[in-house]
Amino acid sequence: MSEFDLIRQYFTRPPDANARIGLGIGDDCALLRAAAGCDLAISTDMLVEGRHFFAGAEPEALGHKCLAINLSDLAAMGAAPVAFTLALALPAAEPDWLAAFSRGLLALADASGCALIGGDTTRGPLTISITVFGDVPPTLALRRDAARPGDEIWVSGTLGDARLALGACLNETTLDAGQFNDASTRLHRPTPRLALGMALRGIARAAIDISDGFAGDLEHILERSGCGASVDVDALPLGPVLRSQARALQRSCTLAGGDDYELCFTAAPDRHDAVLAAAHASATPVACVGIIDALPGLRLHDATRQPYFLTQHSFDHFKTP
Ligand code: ADP
Ligand code: MG
Repeated sequence: MSEFDLIRQYFTRPPDANARIGLGIGDDCALLRAAAGCDLAISTDMLVEGRHFFAGAEPEALGHKCLAINLSDLAAMGAAPVAFTLALALPAAEPDWLAAFSRGLLALADASGCALIGGDTTRGPLTISITVFGDVPPTLALRRDAARPGDEIWVSGTLGDARLALGACLNETTLDAGQFNDASTRLHRPTPRLALGMALRGIARAAIDISDGFAGDLEHILERSGCGASVDVDALPLGPVLRSQARALQRSCTLAGGDDYELCFTAAPDRHDAVLAAAHASATPVACVGIIDALPGLRLHDATRQPYFLTQHSFDHFKTP
């Protein structure tokens, strides 16, 4: 199979009905039409075999996940998906693998209205890099630098089950088959919170998606916004499988787990009911977990207001222990 056969067979779709796409796959560039009154939100995320996923990972889930984690960045900005490009390094052109990968990828692309408009394909160690493009009105983008003292801190969905599944794969934890199956779905098939992100436009101030662990990701908001926070670790919403585990494991998975792809966002306290209405309208549960304050740093406490100290922080590819 030639490189061009591969692109035609697995990644080229019928022309997209989306009027924003002037030209899709097949030329030197795709042409994307600008939307009136919007900035283009752009983000890239890469998945490398052996680093972000195990060798031999199920290709359909991988196709889903590599797009989902990029869409999660659009969600965290309050942006609406428009299009994406796909850069793929493959050790070999295996038809079964390619068919399953593109099925997972394109099913999510269709479901989220995000068209594949181009990419690059080369031989090499399995690496998947996606760049997404989305629309957001400039004054409504949910930026990391917008939190203010007094804001309430919110988290969508539940945290920790993805990290719990990873722990089971690494033999750190034992789960029964049903639990492993449920937690693995969180790890391998994350749901980008696009509807919530868009519903929070004009309501939330700052937002980030939780990809490397709640504590570390919230700290990015604090650093960029020049403020601090106080968070009740017992208010963090636990994944249904994690709920049955020991307290210490619950805390490490929710606070420093990673791969949750939930949104952490802040909003002024007088927008409390508006946040709940946005959550309801987007059918996404949210929990209020803390307060932004002026004193730099993240302070954790439990439900009895006892300080809680985090031993292990979020995931960092380049940090040496
Ligand atoms: P060029 O050499 O000009 O960079 P390529 O030969 O790499 O172009 O690609 C040909 C066309 O196929 C381009 O439109 C490119 O965007 C598209 N393409 C290449 N790889 C992929 C892929 N994995 N998914 C989607 N489109 C792709
Ligand atoms: Mg090229």
